[in-house]
Amino acid sequence: MDFDALFTDQIDALKRDGNYRIFADLERRCGSFPKAQNHKSCGDTREVTVWCSNDYLGMGQHPAVMQAMKDAVDACGTGAGGTRNISGTNHYHLLLEQELADLHGKEAALLFTSGYVSNWAALSTLGSRLPGAVILSDAGNHASMIEGIRHSRAEKVIWRHNDVEDLDRKLAAIGPDRPKIVAFESVYSMDGDISPMAEIIEVAEKHGAMTYLDEVHAVGMYGPRGGGISEREGLADRITLIEGTLGKAYGVVGGYITGSVALCDFIRSFASGFIFTTALPPAVAAAATASIAHLKRSQMERARQQRQVAKLRAELDAIGIPHLPNDSHIIPVMIKDPVKCRMISDILMDDWGIYVQPINYPTVPKGTERLRITPSPMHSDADIAHLVEALSDLWSHCALARAVA
Ligand SMILES: *Cc1c(COP(=O)(O)O)cnc(C)c1O
Repeated sequence: MDFDALFTDQIDALKRDGNYRIFADLERRCGSFPKAQNHKSCGDTREVTVWCSNDYLGMGQHPAVMQAMKDAVDACGTGAGGTRNISGTNHYHLLLEQELADLHGKEAALLFTSGYVSNWAALSTLGSRLPGAVILSDAGNHASMIEGIRHSRAEKVIWRHNDVEDLDRKLAAIGPDRPKIVAFESVYSMDGDISPMAEIIEVAEKHGAMTYLDEVHAVGMYGPRGGGISEREGLADRITLIEGTLGKAYGVVGGYITGSVALCDFIRSFASGFIFTTALPPAVAAAATASIAHLKRSQMERARQQRQVAKLRAELDAIGIPHLPNDSHIIPVMIKDPVKCRMISDILMDDWGIYVQPINYPTVPKGTERLRITPSPMHSDADIAHLVEALSDLWSHCALARAVA
């Protein structure tokens, strides 16, 4: 059998639809974020400004974070040397778990190798080990939650995105004795919209459901200590489980959950995705701890980022470039066509040294293709002016609609 032909058939279909993914070959340079070197296929390199990084606050190059990682490598070496159970638990993991529990005001925390794995492992364990469990999942939830729920084989009920009345109706239709888990996010990463958290909690509490909150795009970014939207709204103590990542605003890698001692002990004891994998390198844990500790105290990064986000939005509005309105730091510029989206991204890169990855299906639904722009505190006013000039030029030359003022 010609397996390669089977593979290329499907790849060719992606290419025909404009959904084939091409990775930008980047070399990040310490101290020059958001600039990076882009290695071109011809072998040349050029400097580009990255406008689509999830290292939202540039913490991946923060001196204290880098120093913590270097010090831990010098002290402990590279890898953890085992799973958490079999020799891989290092003191740095425990310090990080304490830092995380404190961040969200919870009794305990549990580390995973990524945010994806934390969602997958926690939801699949909750759904499979709580007899009769029903998971009520917001229609906009991330792939890692969807896969975890699927793997749990628990009954799944999808409620309309951010629609509290729909959630209420669907909860009411489930028997009172069944364990119910309401799974949702705070900041949705592609539209940048924020969930009505207080209302969701109220409805969940009314029906005796537990709440499972993905704060991946909000930790480090919102709340006086970076505890996310749940901290900003004073709601963290009413959420049963808060999940987050160390790979976005914290600039390192890894994922976690926080909650009660019993909850974390339960996931620790039964989750395959926690048990059967090598623990994170101690140096990663040390760097993440330094990053969280820094963003608990420092408001500067958050304030400056929010300023640059507002500035870019205002400048886009001034020239009529349409972007989805939302209350977060994510600026989606809608193109609504996969081929055009790719083309615009290519022109920005080739002619302007601006890197914004096209976001196409399956990351977003077909027909909602977009450029997802994420300003950081390190993007200067001149960077913003340059991006706006480039987009304005493109909009004039590519027959793209402007928003009517
Ligand atoms: C990125 C993301 C994750 C996964 O986090 P990683 O640490 O990158 O694996 C989980 N949930 C949401 C909503 C995300 O956008």
